[in-house]
Formats: sequence, structure tokens, C-alpha cells
Amino acid sequence: MSNPTERIFELRELIKKYRDSYYTEDVSLVSDAEYDGLEKELAALEAQYPELASGSPLEEVGGSVSNTFDPVQHLEPMMSLDNAFSFDELSAWAERVGPGPYLCELKIDGLAINLRYLNGKLVSAATRGDGVTGEDITLNAKTMSQIPLELKGENHPEQIEIRGEVYFALDDFQKLNEGLIASGNAPFANPRNSASGSLRQKDPEVTKTRPLKLLVHGFGAWTDHNLKSQSDVYTLLATWGLPVSERAKSFDSLPEVMEFIDQHLKLRHSLEHEIDGVVVKVDDLGRQQQLGFTSRAPRWAIAYKYPPEQVQTRLTDIKVSIGRTGRATPYAVVEPVLVAGSTVEFATLHNQDVVAAKGVLIGDTVVLRKAGDVIPEILGPVIQSRDGSEKKFEMPKLCPECGTELAPAQEGDVDLRCPNAKSCPAQLRERIAYLGSRSALDIEALGYVSATALTQPASPAPVVFSEADVFDLTLEELLPIRAYVLDPDTGEKKLDAQGNPKIVDYFKKKNGEPGEIAHKLLANLEQAKQSPLWRILVSLSIRHVGPVAARALADHFGSIQRIFEASEEQLSEIDGVGPTLAESIKSWIEVDWHKEIIDRWRASGVKLEIDDHPGPGKLAVDGVLAGQAVVVTGSLEGMTREEVEEAIRAAGGKPASSVSKNTSFLVAGPGAGSKLTKAEQLGIEIIDLNQLRTRLGI
Ligand code: NAD
Repeated sequence: MSNPTERIFELRELIKKYRDSYYTEDVSLVSDAEYDGLEKELAALEAQYPELASGSPLEEVGGSVSNTFDPVQHLEPMMSLDNAFSFDELSAWAERVGPGPYLCELKIDGLAINLRYLNGKLVSAATRGDGVTGEDITLNAKTMSQIPLELKGENHPEQIEIRGEVYFALDDFQKLNEGLIASGNAPFANPRNSASGSLRQKDPEVTKTRPLKLLVHGFGAWTDHNLKSQSDVYTLLATWGLPVSERAKSFDSLPEVMEFIDQHLKLRHSLEHEIDGVVVKVDDLGRQQQLGFTSRAPRWAIAYKYPPEQVQTRLTDIKVSIGRTGRATPYAVVEPVLVAGSTVEFATLHNQDVVAAKGVLIGDTVVLRKAGDVIPEILGPVIQSRDGSEKKFEMPKLCPECGTELAPAQEGDVDLRCPNAKSCPAQLRERIAYLGSRSALDIEALGYVSATALTQPASPAPVVFSEADVFDLTLEELLPIRAYVLDPDTGEKKLDAQGNPKIVDYFKKKNGEPGEIAHKLLANLEQAKQSPLWRILVSLSIRHVGPVAARALADHFGSIQRIFEASEEQLSEIDGVGPTLAESIKSWIEVDWHKEIIDRWRASGVKLEIDDHPGPGKLAVDGVLAGQAVVVTGSLEGMTREEVEEAIRAAGGKPASSVSKNTSFLVAGPGAGSKLTKAEQLGIEIIDLNQLRTRLGI
């Protein structure tokens, strides 16, 4: 650990280096969160050692002016913003600035621009630069359709500086990066860097091709205005044809501000652009003036920052996993990193073409994004951080679990597969786990860990060699099984203090009695024998046969036997099936060990038909909701959406996803939104979950 003085100088150097790259090269060498952490650490040390605080980069506005552009002096400085990372920090700020109204605005992650108008005519556009001097980007800014060359209306001030954020909408960002990758160029790591990189082009013709947008969020020098509040300023600027956010809102009290912040955290992923927080400003212009500025930021505003969703970490390896249908999927192994509330260690890379398109090498520092509940994604490498030791990923030729040669299922397929469907331990384990999953037979005691214990125990031999064995399992077979302890999230084996895999008696207690999982699994399996036919079909892992197709097949044919006896033409004629699926079903049943699954399941008492099905083509169910289209919305106490929809189907109804004049009725729970409004407008019957239960007798 370096001493505090050394650390202060080390931090200053790092901060300067990262700022330089960020503001002049549009490249983030570290994530914003890591950068913010360094600033925080430096601020704390400087507070502790005030004698060392002079000359700190924290006293300055971050950026600088590159040689590519001419320098422009701002008439009034362009400042940064102080941050709050918690409601406590926000409350402390509110206490310093006094009572509301507070104006809340979304903090778009783009770059600041200063537009100078003389008597309503645009005369210059500049980046923030070091806050005093910016970069002249007038020609580039003039290519942006949202920047008026001349203000609308009349009575414009002799001179005014308009400040705003130039940004990339998410859709446009995606398209831009796809184009860059297709033309062999490095993609931008995030919309902020792409906005900055696009506006700060040497050649304005390039900027012209980039769909940059603007939202105005302030002003600098302004000759003689008599407005009272920042909200009034926005109203006036809008009349001059400047793009002002419709989402800005003024509140009298701090709890309302906090509510706005919470609401927009939830809305964060449904906006057209990225936001990294909410800016809260004292709305009254007189009070703003009284409060003034520090050397780098206004005292009358604060940026409440949301938790970061983009981080940087090291790609330590690229491994390949084998799925239940044999697909070989490369995935990234990264140094564990906390993002959007969870620790990420792995991220899928889909296939070898995606690895190549992302341009990542093993050993790279990579940008990783995890937005809310969305699965983590590697966006790309930080090429500037390479030291030459990085290695290219080669897709393996052999299956990593059984050694069989990988091959495309069909010529021209990008995805490679392990063709050893029956005996590849990975495929079997994944299929058995899938069979127990909620999408298939929904067997609580047959999750990933149980599936591994049954197919790949530590000792003695496996008891499940194919799906055929599942319904014949006995207590005698289960009890001796010793299993590896697996991490429930990653499926990796857990290790003991000596670094050996942890192994436990999985199905029995210490005294040799059957444990809870053993009883539960056997009882669950007994129950699962009576599963609806479509679930049985899904559990067979036939390629392309998911719940929708399985339902269509089960409803139409009414029995497994009839499905497998049908010709390819008969199968493909069914709504929701089609030729690819039909072929997949036919080739599945031609395999001997697949036939054995059906025979053994039948012999074990698994129900393979729908009772009283009137024969192919006729709908099996003629329940209380026959022919009715039902929409479900809002939250549903005690039942999942899937369960409710299944109950509707079981009663002959048809769950629909949107309300129209053909909707028979709407089931609405708390939190229902636009569907409820639409049903009310169309005069469609609305009931709650309890009323539905009564109708269905459940
Ligand atoms: P900032 O981005 O936190 O806040 C100031 C800026 O917010 C303003 O200049 C303005 O452009 C913008 N803004 C957006 N919406 C606004 C609104 N409604 N009202 C007012 N301003 C609004 O501060 P900064 O000084 O520009 O930069 C610091 C940020 O840059 C931090 O988030 C930091 O993590 C990041 N950074 C990252 C690196 C890196 O290497 N990753 C390096 C330097 C800076």
C-alpha cells in the first residue's frame, strides 16, 4: 500500500490519463464507475490532507481541447456537475440549497454543446473542452437537423449561449455499430462515446451521416432576460425552435423528487436514449445566482447517478458449452465483476461468428453490459489496453465433454453441434434438467443439480442414461448416489478448503434414511406422469418443438401415437407447426433410442394421450370459455401469468396478448395499464382474478 502522498499523486495521474482519453479520444480506458471511484478516493484523501489539495484535477472541469479543432472561448464557463449516489447525499444537497421548487431532468449520457446565437443567428458551436475554452465544431453542428441555424419567432436577445446534450438514440447507436463492424471498424463502447466521436469529426461530412440528436438543458451568457425560473427558460426556448425535454418536471418537495428518480429508474430501459441519472436543479433563477458556483460545478444543481450498467473487466477465457440439442456455444469467462446488482462471471458469446464480430481476444479488457434483469453481454474490447499478450479464440473441433467431432447440423449453419446426442454427458444432463424445468414437466425436485447427480454422479455409476430411465427410478437406485455440490447459478463444482470438489450424499440422510429430495423426486415423478400431453411433448427436447407447437400438436392429434404416425405433410399443415418442425419430429422418432423412451414411458404409466379426444382435427376441450378470447393484464395474486393462461386454455378459451373489439373479456390485476384503459374505451367486460377463478371453478 502506497503512502497517502504517493497515492494522491498516483490518483491524479490516473485521473488525468483517463480524462484525456475520454474527452479527446472518445475512449473509456476504465468504466465510469471505476473512474468515479478514483475521483471519490482522491476527494477523500485531499479532505484528509488539505495541504496537498492545491493543483488537484478535482478543481477543474474534466475535458481539454484537442489540436484537431480551433479553440473557442466560452462567454461564460461550462461547468461539470456534482454527483449524489444516494438519497442521503441528495438530502444533504437539498439542505444546503434550501427549499424547492426543484426542477428534475433526465441526465442523458452524451456530450455537452454550447451554441452561440447573435440576434437569433447561430454563429458558433463548441464542445465543453476545459470549461473555459472549447473546441470549435460549428461546421459539424450545422449538419444536425435539430440545431436551428436561425431561431424561430422574434425578440431574440442580442447574444445568448444555449447549452444542451448531443446524444445518440439507442436504435441509431445499434445500427451505427452494426455498420462499423460490417465495414471492419471497431464499434463504439457506448452511445456517449459514439455521440462524442461523431460530433468531433474532422470532416463534417462524416458527422452529417450520423443521426445525432440534441436536448437543451441550460444557458450561459444571455443579454437582458427577465425570466424567473429555469422552467420558464425552457418554455421560451421551445418557442424558438430549440429541442427541450418534455420529461423535465418541477416539484416543491424533496420526496416528490425522489419519486421522480425512482420512477425513471424503472423506465430507464424503455427510453429512446441512455440515461445515467437525474439532474436536480434549483428552479428559481434568482436563487441560482445567489448560490453560484464552485471552481468546477454549480452549487444549485446535482446529478443523482443511477447504478452503473456498464463495467470493464478482463476476459480470462472463452470456453464452449454444449446445450441440450448439442449446440456448441462459446461463452466468456470474465474476472467476477459487480454490475446492475449482481456479480457476473460468465457471458454468452452465441457462436464463433459473434466472437469474431465483437473482435475480442482472450486476455482483453472488455466492456460488459448488464441492463436490469437482461442477461450480461460483452460489448467489445478496449483495444487501447492491449499489451500484445492477448490470444485469438479458436472454436474447438471436438466436443469439450465427449470428444466427438463438432459439425454443423446442416451445411451452411453457423452453429456447430455435437452429434453424439444419446451419450454426450452434457447433452443428457441438459435434457434431463430441461425435462424437469417449468417449460416442460415442471418437476420441482428435478433441477440442474439433481439432473447432474442422476447423470454424472461422483459415485457410483449414473442411474439415468437417457430420458427412458426417468420414470423407472427407484429409491434403491437413488440412495447410494454421491453428488458434486454445484453452484446453483453457474453450475460449476464447488471446492473445499483443499481445492477438491465437494461431494455429498445427495438422496439420503446421514443415518441412511431417504432424505427429502429422494421422497420429493419420486412423488413429483409419479405426479408428472399425468402431465398434459403438450408438456410431455416439450420434455422430449425435439428440436424446434417448444410450448406453442407442442400445444398445437397435442390439441390436434390428442395422442403421442397419432402425432408420430402422422405424415410430414399432415404435421406441417397444422397452424404453428410448419415444414421444419414436421421434419424434425419425423426424424426424431426414427431413432431407436427415442422410440424406446416412448415405450418405456408408456410402460411406466406416463399418460400419452388426452382423455376423450374426439380424433385428429377436433379441439379436445369444450369448456366454459370455448371460443372466447381472453386478455390477462396486471399482477395476479397467487398465480403466475402462465398458470392463468393455461387455466384459460384448459377451459377452451384462447389467451390473447392485446385488447381489441374481438376480446371477450379482460382479466385485470393491480398495476394494469394501457390494456385496461383500452378495454374500458371499447366497453369490454373487465373482471378480476377471483371472478375468473369462480368462472373456471378453480
Ligand atoms: P457529468 O457527466 O457527471 O455531468 C456534467 C454533464 O452532464 C454536463 O456537462 C452535461 O453535458 C451533462 N448533462 C446531461 N443532462 C443534463 C441536464 N439535464 N442538465 C445539465 N447537464 C446535463 O460530468 P462530467 O464532468 O462531464 O464527466 C464526468 C463523467 O464522465 C463521469 O460520469 C465519469 O464517470 C465520466 N468519465 C469517465 C471516464 C472514463 O475513463 N470512463 C473519464 C472521465 C470522465
